[in-house]
Amino acid sequence: MYPKIHTIEDVAAWQLCCGCGACAALCPDQIEMIDTLEYGRRPRRIGGTTGNSMDEAMAVCPGIRLTRLPKPCDQIGNDQFYEVWGPVLGVWEGYAADSQIRFEGSSGGAATALALFGMERLGMHGTLHIRARDDVPYLNKTVFSVDRGELLAGAGSRYAPASPCDGLSQVESSSGPCVFIGKPCDVAAIHKAIELRPQLAEKIGLTIAFFCAGTPSTAGTLEMLRQMGVEDPASVESLRYRGRGWPGMATVAYRDHENALQRRELTYEQSWGDILQKYRQWRCYICPDHIGEYADIAVADAWHRSVRDHQPGRSVMIARTPRGKAILEQALEKGFLEAESVSPDILPLCRPGQAQYQGGLWARVQTLRMMGAPVPKYIGFGLFGLWRSKLSIGEKIHSILSTVKRFFVKTLYRPRDMILYTVSTNESSKPRQPSEFDKVANHVS
Ligand SMILES: Cc1cc2nc3c(=O)[nH]c(=O)nc-3n(C[C@H](O)[C@H](O)[C@H](O)COP(=O)(O)OP(=O)(O)OC[C@H]3O[C@@H](n4cnc5c(N)ncnc54)[C@H](O)[C@@H]3O)c2cc1C
Ligand code: SF4
Ligand code: SF4
Repeated sequence: MYPKIHTIEDVAAWQLCCGCGACAALCPDQIEMIDTLEYGRRPRRIGGTTGNSMDEAMAVCPGIRLTRLPKPCDQIGNDQFYEVWGPVLGVWEGYAADSQIRFEGSSGGAATALALFGMERLGMHGTLHIRARDDVPYLNKTVFSVDRGELLAGAGSRYAPASPCDGLSQVESSSGPCVFIGKPCDVAAIHKAIELRPQLAEKIGLTIAFFCAGTPSTAGTLEMLRQMGVEDPASVESLRYRGRGWPGMATVAYRDHENALQRRELTYEQSWGDILQKYRQWRCYICPDHIGEYADIAVADAWHRSVRDHQPGRSVMIARTPRGKAILEQALEKGFLEAESVSPDILPLCRPGQAQYQGGLWARVQTLRMMGAPVPKYIGFGLFGLWRSKLSIGEKIHSILSTVKRFFVKTLYRPRDMILYTVSTNESSKPRQPSEFDKVANHVS
């Protein structure tokens, strides 16, 4: 008998949760999001388990079920293109025209520039997204930014748990449309929430998702800090993972034993490649959407180019809906973005192995099911077809055997407890002073 997913807590316990926070937004009386060390931001029950809102929480959860969007009639690319890349109405390559946004941004600052355009020119009331916590800079918080300065404070990728959907009530209570920026799973949850509560559609004026290879846990960040020479996480004044150059350096500012400000850096290859990616949550290994299929606009690094450290960033932007395409074109016309239309053929170079990954996902899900682990239900992604056509015999065998191995290594055969990660009182009440590091960063015009 397979274990069944009956509650939101089951989703987390069986490691199917991606930490989006949508359940907490839909069911605030019964669920809150907490930080856990090993898994990420996770839902915790604070009230009863039944009722309409709990049903709504289950209905929007991307960890339980995802149904792919149909192929749009104005899809570009050849016949098989949609199968691998989802809805694509146009592809652009470029960057934010505002040089500070480009500099602070993770790649070309496209997400921030598009959100700013929505707010300054399209009457959007604010942007729901995430940024570093002021009191504990290596953790994240959800924010509703209403001007350029607030948006800019959240620019840059944070390879750490974040649950932007938990702030959805700020969008619901806003008097006009808003922008949402998040990972593909965050945007998928927003999409499901709109289906469930159609009145929300008026409040979500633009969704932006970035390509996402996976979210590392807080344990990953702490290991990165340790390798940067930070003995006490409470001494951290600020932490960036990227940006300020492309791909930019992971940079920590912290106080040493003499209270002097120290600064340490790691390259992107060292931080993400050698450390953080090893700490990705399990759901990311069985994620059907690393490329923001549910968003109006998906943004990504222009990895098809060779990147030298500290060069100005470049983004790839994919219009996935007519609304996204119209906003992108207007943002270009009004000078918020500098970009040119490019062939969709660059996408396989930006994210090599996408077709093989999707094919392998079919085998991973089937293997887990046969071994008795609960798995999400994915509808319409055409995964079996990709497994059959895009994987060699060796890759097919590997996709099964590697899953069997992970079933044991990741202990997918039993539910796990979600334990609150406690930040020391000292740390959470620490008043945050602007550091020298911030001052250096803020000199850029
Ligand atoms: C976990 C993670 C995995 C990634 N994997 C890939 C990948 O596989 N391929 C690729 O091309 N790029 C990946 N990126 C990088 C991202 O796709 C690029 O940075 C993207 O081009 C956006 O850059 P930008 O300059 O347009 O965004 P910016 O203008 O810098 O804006 C970034 C926005 O993302 C939000 N944000 C940052 N971190 C998070 C987070 N953890 N959760 C939710 N929102 C967040 C910020 O609040 C900000 O609004 C990843 C980023 C993250 C955080
Ligand atoms: S995936 Fe999102 S909605 Fe589902 S349990 Fe996790 S935080 Fe809640
Ligand atoms: S890989 Fe998928 S599940 Fe994991 S954080 Fe990214 S979008 Fe969410």
